[in-house]
Amino acid sequence: MQTEPIPTTSDIPTAELVCQQCAAPLQVTPGSQFATCEFCGTDNFVDKSGVVIHYAVQTTVREPDAMAALRRWMAGNQTVKGLDEKAQITETIYQLFPMWMVRVQANGEEQIYLEPAAATSITELTELTIPAGSIMAYDHALDAYALDPTVPYETVKSWLADNHQVSSGAIRSVSLVHVPIYVCKYTYEGEGYTAVVDGATGQVFAAIFPSKWETPYQAIGGLGCLGYFLISFIPLFGFATVSASGAAVSLVIYCVLAVLLAIPIFAAAVFISSKA
Ligand SMILES: [Zn+2]
Repeated sequence: MQTEPIPTTSDIPTAELVCQQCAAPLQVTPGSQFATCEFCGTDNFVDKSGVVIHYAVQTTVREPDAMAALRRWMAGNQTVKGLDEKAQITETIYQLFPMWMVRVQANGEEQIYLEPAAATSITELTELTIPAGSIMAYDHALDAYALDPTVPYETVKSWLADNHQVSSGAIRSVSLVHVPIYVCKYTYEGEGYTAVVDGATGQVFAAIFPSKWETPYQAIGGLGCLGYFLISFIPLFGFATVSASGAAVSLVIYCVLAVLLAIPIFAAAVFISSKA
């Protein structure tokens, strides 16, 4: 009779390696973090801290529609005027980005947290929402587009505890979800930017983008204040140094200058608003 234990290269207790969908034992290939259940076909992700179900969000936004959504966002109010015409899109990459999906029960309500499971400079990805009915079992046919998770579940757990006061006990379920995104690189006036279009909702995410130029408005405001401050000395000196008629004349001069000064300020503001 064979009594030797089966050698395993994994440091996870074998007893815990069960399918999270049907509880059947999982066969994990050493070195792989994914295991498809032989019984129910569900893909599981295997981490040091355990096994979770692996999902994917269906791609419903095709590339031309994603590009159209990006152009609409560029033409919108958030970004600098004319960005949709001047921006040069240099690269568009379709990928499945890994996110940790954590269901939390707190105060009788269920809340879902989505946290990036791989490094990203697009911090807004945490604002992603998964449309109802768009989640499906992960299919390894998608592997060519899927980014491997690099952020361990433990990190997300401590992040939830630190930033959202979520205790481990409040966590109802954890899963790994690959979400479809279009990473769009573009240049505007010599600078490079990145925007992400959600492949399930068409929503645009960008951490840094050419925004409305506010400095010229502040400059006009500052110069306008200085101008009014300077001309206010005219009636002041008029009252202090000359006769009553002189004071009246200086007051008239002040009023005329005040009105004249408003014209270039208004014109400059109109000019800049047409540019920005
Ligand atoms: Zn199963």
